[in-house]
Amino acid sequence: SIPLGFFGGVGGASKRGILVKGSNYLEALNDVKYVVFDKTGTLTKGIFEVTSINPSNGLTKDELLEYAAFAEVHSNHPIALSIRKAYKKEINNNRIQDYNEISGHGIEVKVDGKTILAGNAKLMKKEDISFEQKDVVGTLVHVAIDGQYGGYIVISDEVKEDAAKAVQQLKSLGIKKTVMLTGDSKTVGKAVGHELGLDEIHAELLPHQKVEEIEKLDERKISKEKLIFVGDGINDTPVLARADVGIAMGGLGSDAAIEAADVVIMTDEPSKIATAIKIAKRTRGIVW
Ligand code: ADP
Ligand code: MG
Repeated sequence: SIPLGFFGGVGGASKRGILVKGSNYLEALNDVKYVVFDKTGTLTKGIFEVTSINPSNGLTKDELLEYAAFAEVHSNHPIALSIRKAYKKEINNNRIQDYNEISGHGIEVKVDGKTILAGNAKLMKKEDISFEQKDVVGTLVHVAIDGQYGGYIVISDEVKEDAAKAVQQLKSLGIKKTVMLTGDSKTVGKAVGHELGLDEIHAELLPHQKVEEIEKLDERKISKEKLIFVGDGINDTPVLARADVGIAMGGLGSDAAIEAADVVIMTDEPSKIATAIKIAKRTRGIVW
């Protein structure tokens, strides 16, 4: 029997803040066995805060933060927003040239004619900047000025309130594997993944490597099984497009993600994934 107040189908989903772009996607949600999550902005709030500033080679903390803030001036990555917020001061755009955002790595830019790099260890390695690797929990933004290492800024994010519940609900709906794909470090990936009880954690991935991981997971599916990917759309639109059902967080997510996704979670809550699957199952029950 149908519970009182139950709204079925695509319309019912939309009343719960879940925008489904066609009944075929709702149908596909019935057979989901693999749920793959992006980390930042999807399982975590995507609101980073600077927790420490660690200069090297004679820089002051203020100088390190200033270089980082100038480098991040045009980026809308959550990391960039946190660094600009910590800097507080205004940024004169005339001092910035040749801005280049390198997906999954960070930023390369000229500030007052100096080449500034701001990003992860992968970016430093790619540009041959040597530095001492620290074992710190948190997302590290390394900075280099004209080829010399200038230190790192530690920023941290929080998991969303309903993320652990979201994973539990999926398990009770018979999902075979809950997986996290992240471009962030293994340290951060593992800390978040274990806290939430995810089955698999794949870290330090570039956007194209996230697509490759989806393809590998896809090969593990049998018969009608479906795989869904849940992302916030910052750097993950190719993955959203590749999954059987691509689900985007609508609040924080970029317009590109909302375009590329098959389902949009308007409230940004990961627990809405289980809600969508339940609606799909009840709708099938009514229709068939
Ligand atoms: P996630 O998979 O966690 O959503 P992304 O793919 O967006 O992460 O980014 C992966 C990593 O690339 C980040 O953890 C960060 O180290 C680095 N990165 C990306 N964009 C920036 C940026 N604007 N500034 C500094 N680092 C960045
Ligand atoms: Mg992301």
